[in-house]
Amino acid sequence: MTLRRREWLKTMAGASIGALGLPLLNRAQTTTTAQTKRVEPSLALKDYQPKSMLHVPETHVPRSRFPNIDFHTHLTWVDRKGKSDVLTHAATVAEALKVMDAKNIRIMVNLTGGYGPLLEEAVRHWQQPHPDRFIVFTEPWYAKITMPNYAKFQGEQIEAAKKAGARGLKILKTLGLYLRESVTTGPLVKIDDKRFDQMWEAAGALDMPVAIHVSDPEAFFLPTDRFNERYEELSAHPDWSFHGKDYPSNAELQEARNRVMERHPRTKFVALHTADSENLPYVAECLDRYPNMYVDIAARIGELGRQPRMSRKFFDKYQDRILFATDATPHGDETPQQIFGNELYEIYYRFLETEDEYFDYAPALIPPQGRWRIYGIGLPEPILKKVYYDNAARLLGL
Ligand SMILES: [Zn+2]
Repeated sequence: MTLRRREWLKTMAGASIGALGLPLLNRAQTTTTAQTKRVEPSLALKDYQPKSMLHVPETHVPRSRFPNIDFHTHLTWVDRKGKSDVLTHAATVAEALKVMDAKNIRIMVNLTGGYGPLLEEAVRHWQQPHPDRFIVFTEPWYAKITMPNYAKFQGEQIEAAKKAGARGLKILKTLGLYLRESVTTGPLVKIDDKRFDQMWEAAGALDMPVAIHVSDPEAFFLPTDRFNERYEELSAHPDWSFHGKDYPSNAELQEARNRVMERHPRTKFVALHTADSENLPYVAECLDRYPNMYVDIAARIGELGRQPRMSRKFFDKYQDRILFATDATPHGDETPQQIFGNELYEIYYRFLETEDEYFDYAPALIPPQGRWRIYGIGLPEPILKKVYYDNAARLLGL
């Protein structure tokens, strides 16, 4: 550049002409202006609710294109009341059926059906009167882990649960992150602890799929600071942070799950929440390595929908091993991405069926899992049919 040209540019930059030919100089100019006029924001992040100004199609999908099975819901919970465990019903049967009929949900799978007498109650309340609409899973009886013959006991419990009506086994992230040698104290019990081997084997022998929640968003394992993309979510749920203390890393948890799947090839495992929805190449590797592995999409359309091109390829390739699921929890007001109701299902259908752009992944004023929006992946009908119904039906032996 000649001296004359440089001087000419300087002059022109000061005269604030269009930026097209002068990107660098003009940027410097803007910075100076911004610095002199800068106003500190007085709006708190929690009060910020920006409205998108995009003019893009908004498709309302009131019913799923095919009847669906919601493979991951919580209609009952086991709660500790004093010294005993009790089963809490999160909704009435009529309340659930009303939404199911309106939204084309053929079957809801209630994963947290408890164990022993609690399981019997869950089956009696939901599954027995409506065997074509509700399916109940059982859970391990962790309070018994201190028993010397726990491995045998837990294996036999699966058989008893099957007799009582349970159709599968649910593993909460309690295993790996909360359960300790003396239940609540002592070292953490590992996911691939041998004491569960008879349980995994029994589930396989009895054709009961294992719905297993291992792994959480990577941000849950990092400090809750200004760099954490889930700062607001972790602030609302500090107990979801697994940073520090004696917690294993997210990768260690998943490798332990992988060893379990490898050791029990006859048992079918549904890795809940897409196993690791932020790292689909890793999930693909696991699916390739373990033919007995499946995934559900519960409470993860926020992740899948912010990487729509990667997700679409993932659904194409693994269309026989992905299950429709929402993590729906009636009246679960603390987790808006899970509140059972018409709105929740319409968002899932919109994500799976349309190519709409930049919409909310949860029925909430502020995106509850992180401040971003999602894009639909517009699945073709043959894949929709499998994901909505066929894959789950096959696993559940329907
Ligand atoms: Zn869940």
